[in-house]
Amino acid sequence: MDEVDIANDAMLESLERTLAALRKEPKGPQPEFCVECEEPIPPARQKLRLDLCIDCAQLRERAQRVLRNN
Ligand SMILES: [Zn+2]
Repeated sequence: MDEVDIANDAMLESLERTLAALRKEPKGPQPEFCVECEEPIPPARQKLRLDLCIDCAQLRERAQRVLRNN
């Protein structure tokens, strides 16, 4: 084993942890629950890595549309 490789692995691991924390993904890459209302997200939306349930996604979309029009 090469000591440089070990150091790089440790650095990569901590970098990945930092990035995961920045992305707020403590539960893993696929969000299971809505970040707004904490309702379970349907599997089809989880596969798309959407972190909002359908209701909250529609609300946010509507809010963004209003914001754009103003
Ligand atoms: Zn929701």
